[in-house]
Amino acid sequence: MSRAKGEVSNAGTGAPDPRAAPGATGGYEAVIGLEVHAQLLTRSKIFCGCSTAFGAPPNSHACPVCLGMPGVLPVLNRRAVEYAVKVALATHCTVALSSIFARKNYFYPDLPKGYQISQYELPLATNGYLDIPLDGGGKRVGLQRIHLEEDAGKLLHETPGPYSLVDFNRSGVPLIEIVSQPDLRTPEEAGAYLRELRSILVYLEVCDGNMEEGSLRCDANVSLRPRGQAAFGVRSEVKNMNSFRNVERALEYEIARQEKVLRQGGTIVQETRLWDAARGVSVSMRGKEEAHDYRYFPEPDLLPLVLEQAWVDQVRASLPELPAEKRARFVGEYGLPPYDAQVLTSSKALANYFEECVRLYPKPKVVSNWVMGDVLRELKGDERGIEAAPVTPEHLARMLRLMDSGTISGKLAKTVFEEMWRSGDDPEEIVKRQGLVQVSDEGAIGPAVEAVLQAHPGEVEAYRGGNDKLLGFFVGQVMKATQGKANPQLVNEILLRKLRGG
Ligand code: ADP
Ligand code: MG
Ligand code: ZN
Repeated sequence: MSRAKGEVSNAGTGAPDPRAAPGATGGYEAVIGLEVHAQLLTRSKIFCGCSTAFGAPPNSHACPVCLGMPGVLPVLNRRAVEYAVKVALATHCTVALSSIFARKNYFYPDLPKGYQISQYELPLATNGYLDIPLDGGGKRVGLQRIHLEEDAGKLLHETPGPYSLVDFNRSGVPLIEIVSQPDLRTPEEAGAYLRELRSILVYLEVCDGNMEEGSLRCDANVSLRPRGQAAFGVRSEVKNMNSFRNVERALEYEIARQEKVLRQGGTIVQETRLWDAARGVSVSMRGKEEAHDYRYFPEPDLLPLVLEQAWVDQVRASLPELPAEKRARFVGEYGLPPYDAQVLTSSKALANYFEECVRLYPKPKVVSNWVMGDVLRELKGDERGIEAAPVTPEHLARMLRLMDSGTISGKLAKTVFEEMWRSGDDPEEIVKRQGLVQVSDEGAIGPAVEAVLQAHPGEVEAYRGGNDKLLGFFVGQVMKATQGKANPQLVNEILLRKLRGG
């Protein structure tokens, strides 16, 4: 990434040819469109009954249909269609009541049929959009289309020796491809779009959203144009990014690379490039293929996919509350800042955890602070997410009530929380066991205050001479002497009385 940035500044300081530089307003604007492949969480493959389970021994989930034997016939998986329609409706697409499958012909060893069954001319869904949250507002990003297709097998090149192995377990696993309009302008926008899309897929429970394992894959198309120009420039397509961060890095690199070429008066060639995360560069893989290279033609073994409007309506009625709706509701119903709403709705489970806490302890902002702060900090790095939290909403709510009743101070609450996390015990038990109860008894705090004042005669004199700020110092000393157990408000009162009274 640093290398990509370096290239930009080299171009800037290296006396660029003024004729090659764009208009006086300066600079280029990036245009980005993403093609996302999402693996659908069906139990069986899209055209046969083989299992889609991940991690099985190679070629143990394969049959004559997904191995492309002659004479076999595909049968469309109804659940895959339902999942694809859910995504289409959740992203405001128009669902085609009639769509068709096509054969996309090419040779590769992981594609035994010699063609991929995909939707081409008449896709399942078109013309949708996604509203993505961005710092300081949001943006509506158009979707061109969503279509169904089958996945290919997987080549394994790790073996020593002059051969590769092929595993057909993935061959025929259902995918949807979601193609955005070229509406994105920066790597950050592309990242936000991907995160929002992933969140929707996971909310719908149609895809596990795991980029590292390849259940969510993203190809990024990017071009540059002089700022102010309406026409798009020539694009390259970057593949092989296996995390959100890598999509952003690859785009930063690619934008800088293209900018350098253009500033030097060169032209961009339409091509497919591979992102190399280890080196932080993209390398040319092949000239960009055109649609006609694939000799698309309608799949003769499958009928057109015809949906009934009533069924589509039924699917629509079954949609859960989606991330954007939940965010808006958290702001409206709980009065939370948009940032809190975004963090708390980043997963359905986290949102449920928060709402359960609020139901038991109806102060949303207080709960939000604890969940976004202490709970998420403890969970950091745990892939299981909030499901892994040993502190239940019930326990968190009870701890907050102990604070309200003055049994524990805010400071002690931190200790109680950590102990709840460690042991899974309830807060009352911990408070009793560790003697963490806040001391609100004047008879117990008075002597501690007295001792602090006697130990610091200079400060006492300075305070009485008008240095009010020293009050905080005295409070701190008393809290320290009582191991944080003294009721801070009471400490304040007693201190003021003694300092004034002399
Ligand atoms: P293909 O199927 O050949 O990859 P498409 O026309 O379907 O091409 O576009 C694929 C993706 O590329 C879409 O997300 C689209 O928004 C994006 N795209 C198209 N033209 C450009 C361009 N000039 N610059 C950046 N992205 C583009
Ligand atoms: Mg493409
Ligand atoms: Zn099969």
